[in-house]
Amino acid sequence: MAQIYKDRIEGLYCKCTKGDIAIFKVEEDKIKCIYCGNEIKCIPPIDFVWKEKCPYCEGKMSTFVIDSTNVKYCSRCGNSK
Ligand SMILES: [Zn+2]
Ligand SMILES: [Zn+2]
Repeated sequence: MAQIYKDRIEGLYCKCTKGDIAIFKVEEDKIKCIYCGNEIKCIPPIDFVWKEKCPYCEGKMSTFVIDSTNVKYCSRCGNSK
């Protein structure tokens, strides 16, 4: 279960992790994995995170975030859905 804080989100999938254990820093126009620097362009704040398979990640399990403009982004590949 992802934990959303003001400056970071814990418990996301990333390219650099096998599970939903990555921590992303919340910046002005993106969230960024603190381990590998993977940047997901979005407009924080992020209100909600859920787990779902991503069609762009070869159907692998991932986490999606929903940003302030109601767009959903995969936290692994950054594609919007
Ligand atoms: Zn990463
Ligand atoms: Zn993806």
